[in-house]
Amino acid sequence: MEEAPEAGRAVRGRVQLTAILSVRNVVKTFKNGSTVRAIDDVSFEVNYDEFVCIIGPSGCGKSTLLRIMAGLETADSGQVLFRGEPITKPTPKVTMVFQTFGLLPWKTAMENVELPMEVAGMPRAEAEGRADRYLRMVGLGTFLGAYPHDLSGGMRQRVGVARALAIGPEVLLLDEPFSALDELTARALRVLLLKIWSDSSLPTNNFVMVTHNVEEAVMMADRIIVMSPHPGRVVGELKVELPRPRFEHLRDALFFDTVDKLMGMLSSNAEEQM
Ligand code: ADP
Repeated sequence: MEEAPEAGRAVRGRVQLTAILSVRNVVKTFKNGSTVRAIDDVSFEVNYDEFVCIIGPSGCGKSTLLRIMAGLETADSGQVLFRGEPITKPTPKVTMVFQTFGLLPWKTAMENVELPMEVAGMPRAEAEGRADRYLRMVGLGTFLGAYPHDLSGGMRQRVGVARALAIGPEVLLLDEPFSALDELTARALRVLLLKIWSDSSLPTNNFVMVTHNVEEAVMMADRIIVMSPHPGRVVGELKVELPRPRFEHLRDALFFDTVDKLMGMLSSNAEEQM
């Protein structure tokens, strides 16, 4: 059994939450011929045990921000702190699930999940054991030796989730993980991810998910960060007060009210951009 980290850990509903991840005044400009300010002075925090969604229209810098949080991209100024320490390169403590899965086609499901652990220097037997455990956890116990081209989109994303979790991160970053999947497959994966997020016997209970789907954000998040483009800025924040599990409450008035409120925040900013 993996140990859940104790230091500073908050117990949902009982202890005051503090930040596990802090995004502080992050600025990022791309210069490829023209200059694009992708992110302009973005700050927010991710509290212990929180499920945070980042929502905004295409081009508002959501993916760039997530890549900076994962240490895959550097900010021009500002910083991202994990437990108070700046993230300057990829770390096994903060891992990412990609929109287009990012699996190596010549490796099996097991090999794809083992790879980041081997790169991190984990002994082979331990990496194998963890890959096996997490692939079973995501429902792929009978597909350990399958290659990506033999798997459906939903199954490939399950491998992506197992790969990101197997190394034992504390923070999972998800970049529009369902947008390449059909709605029924996406629904099953949302349920799976919420189960993993709320399982306190696992070390990964802090999720940050980028989405442009309003209902999805309201279904999943404790708190939603709203961004607007050109340049990418945080323009609002919405705390989602709906009880969990929410899948039983998707027809409740409170669910529709929250969706409307978020739609209002997004469209008022879109009008201001015009
Ligand atoms: P989102 O995920 O919200 O759609 P992105 O982070 O992908 O937004 O992009 C934000 C802005 O930065 C866009 O204008 C995009 O064209 C630009 N951008 C992103 N990555 C690069 C890059 N590698 N080179 C140049 N411009 C980029």
